[in-house]
Amino acid sequence: SAELRDITVAVVREKEKPFSIEQARIRGPKDDEVLVRVVATGLCHTDLIVRDQYYPVPLPAVLGHEGAGVIEAVGPAVKDLRVGDHVVLTYGACGHCNPCSGGHGAYCKDFYGLNFGGGELDGSTAIQDPHGHPLHDHFFAQSSFATYALSRENNAIKVPEDAPIELLGPLGCGIQTGAGAVINSLKVGTGSSFASYGAGAVGLSAVMAARVAGATTIIAIDVVPSRLALATELGATHVINSREVDVVEAVRGITGGGVEYALESTGRAEVLEQGIAALAGLGVIGVVGAPKLGTKAAFDINDLLLGGRSIRGIVEGDSVPKVFIPQLVQLYQQGRFPFDKLVKFYPLEEINQAAEDSTKGITLKPILKIG
Ligand code: NAD
Ligand code: ZN
Repeated sequence: SAELRDITVAVVREKEKPFSIEQARIRGPKDDEVLVRVVATGLCHTDLIVRDQYYPVPLPAVLGHEGAGVIEAVGPAVKDLRVGDHVVLTYGACGHCNPCSGGHGAYCKDFYGLNFGGGELDGSTAIQDPHGHPLHDHFFAQSSFATYALSRENNAIKVPEDAPIELLGPLGCGIQTGAGAVINSLKVGTGSSFASYGAGAVGLSAVMAARVAGATTIIAIDVVPSRLALATELGATHVINSREVDVVEAVRGITGGGVEYALESTGRAEVLEQGIAALAGLGVIGVVGAPKLGTKAAFDINDLLLGGRSIRGIVEGDSVPKVFIPQLVQLYQQGRFPFDKLVKFYPLEEINQAAEDSTKGITLKPILKIG
């Protein structure tokens, strides 16, 4: 494990500046780590808000947290994974705190440090530049904007070899977040009504999951017409362009008074306020969109109290990745969760183009093809 391997990485060196493609070196796997040859990595909105330092991950850093690839080497304490296994990399969790023990790794006591800390919990990094200077890494316990990535055994999820590995990375974050929010967190049920505020990668994953779950009223809300058109194709029964109509009135009109389940994935306070206002009695809105730290939203407390409404924050769709990611792969293979319709592939070298296309609403889910 002292041996260093040459790799190519995309680095963020300064806040709000483009990624730069650089050469670097990574150490081999120790303990329960696996070294993964990255085949492809999704670009999630969270990579961009960290590039822009909404969350202060220390720079320079190698981001990337929707990696998928093939195990190249395993550390001495790895138990279940083997060289050659196909894996999807997901978020890091310690695996033994109270939330982890209860199956809630997304709320691990060390979640922030393990995913946004910029290194191991002791501050060390596994990647260095050609001069031997450390590059911050371990982003979501993987830093997969790279030709090779280290993860721990518990966040490398084995997937079947007959599934297209280059497509599967986004199941590790954005897609499991939207789908899991609907299935695991909100538990949207057969015959119910659901509204997705935001029809980006997360919001459309929620729409597909709501159809799988049997919701009969599925409303997608966005400001980009092409996204609303795709939402219809993926199972939305109604779409609302919030630039054109009063969203709260429209949702109330469609549902006859208010929607039972909703998910906010735009990261905008005023949209959360609309979402709360358009809930039915006993309705629940899940919050996954991430605004800048310190962002406040306003609502009338009585709108919650009278009617028994609730708001809940959701990380990674409350998913137990080892269970949920293979389920999503199966649903995909059965044609019931066609998330490939969200995807456009780019070479790693075009990461800045992918980011721009995502921000402009041209591409829903960029995937960087790496190896
Ligand atoms: P995205 O940019 O693809 O989607 C956001 C969507 O919101 C876009 O389609 C955009 O057009 C739409 N939008 C913007 N303003 C709007 C408005 N006023 N009304 C309606 N729609 C509007 O991003 P994404 O990859 O889908 O991620 C969504 C959010 O979820 C991001 O904030 C991301 O950081 C966060 N995220 C959270 C978790 C988690 O675990 N909680 C995991 C992954 C991503
Ligand atoms: Zn993400």
